[in-house]
Amino acid sequence: MDRKKTIALVAHDSMKEDMVKWVKKNADNLCVHDLVCTGTTGKMVKEALEKERPDVKINMTLLKSGPLGGDQQLGSMIAGEQIDFLVFLTDPMSAQHHDVDVKALIRVAVIYNILMACNLT
Ligand code: PGA
Repeated sequence: MDRKKTIALVAHDSMKEDMVKWVKKNADNLCVHDLVCTGTTGKMVKEALEKERPDVKINMTLLKSGPLGGDQQLGSMIAGEQIDFLVFLTDPMSAQHHDVDVKALIRVAVIYNILMACNLT
């Protein structure tokens, strides 16, 4: 990547450990970009990145928790073309209270062509 990107990261509860593993593996690449995360995912991601790269200041915008409006905040940022990529680890096996928000987030991410990874088919 030749310029700083804004990368959004979201993981449903049962996928958060997978997100942390992925973030640790990609810490060197991720920490040079601006990150945007829903609340709980963001706290875990930030902690993991700070452990992996204590020498780098992690630039993260922490939104509200997904079910409390964080997915909608992120959708709005995507529609405002403020997000370059979204990595969204969903849990297709569990019903989500905020399923309509999840679907709306995926929908807007597909429309703006920024959905890089999503395990929901
Ligand atoms: P969370 O939200 O990171 O606050 O858990 C994720 C989600 O959209 O369910």
